[in-house]
Amino acid sequence: MDIPVIEAVDVNHFYEGQLGWNHALDHLSLTIRHNEFLCILGPSGCGKSTFLKIIAGLIQPSTGSVLLNDRPIKGPGLDRGVVFQDPALFAWLTVLRNVEFGLLMGGWKRHAARDRAMHVLEIVGLARQTSLYPFQLSGGMKHRVAVARAWALTDAALLLMDEPFSAIDAINRMALQDHLVRTWLTEQRTVLYVTHDIEEAVYLADRIVILKPSPGRLACDLRNELPRPRDRHSAAFLAVKSRVMEEMRRHGVTTE
Ligand code: ADP
Repeated sequence: MDIPVIEAVDVNHFYEGQLGWNHALDHLSLTIRHNEFLCILGPSGCGKSTFLKIIAGLIQPSTGSVLLNDRPIKGPGLDRGVVFQDPALFAWLTVLRNVEFGLLMGGWKRHAARDRAMHVLEIVGLARQTSLYPFQLSGGMKHRVAVARAWALTDAALLLMDEPFSAIDAINRMALQDHLVRTWLTEQRTVLYVTHDIEEAVYLADRIVILKPSPGRLACDLRNELPRPRDRHSAAFLAVKSRVMEEMRRHGVTTE
């Protein structure tokens, strides 16, 4: 657990906008450890996605250094799985083939890829939907396929999730969070999960890093030692949620 997977040191990021430079990340330093489930929590515009894109290798920080397993991040790679808000499934492939796809691209043999995809689809509760096409799935199922597709990649020791369930209604979102936690408990990975939802962060994470905007910077870094499975209505859960809200208030952070 103490092995660092990501070490971001003094990261600044600027975007060029119509009104000049936008300081999206301000001197952000953060270490993410092996098998940690870390949520980055903060209001819209505080630089959460920017940080995730830097780790994904989609953009380079303006200044500062980011190491992944002791090496600088030069671009995207199969060592990171990414799940965005849009599940972006291949419409012409079945559920099983969507999940197999990345494995086959990574050089897996067909049989091994099938076994691996089936195994992960079982964990996310889609073992009986493997031959359906995306248009035959509910919104929640599509997101479970997207999670399965990222999780199937055994080389991806780090999973990056950018508000993957935020467009889903509250009831289905809770079910998806349950599936995600179950998957993580069954097959642990390092997860960096971006959200602006306090309850989601308390439910999922064992560490919550709060960012504040303008410019995006670290407000506080909290451990969440609530035992799993977590009960959203328990006094202990509500106490952690209050603590997070209190920290946000103390640091002048508000969420919409
Ligand atoms: P969050 O994910 O917390 O909502 P972002 O990382 O998306 O925040 O954005 C941080 C800041 O950078 C915001 O002010 C946003 O408007 C700005 N920003 C994000 N992407 C771009 C871009 N491609 N060009 C210019 N400004 C951007």
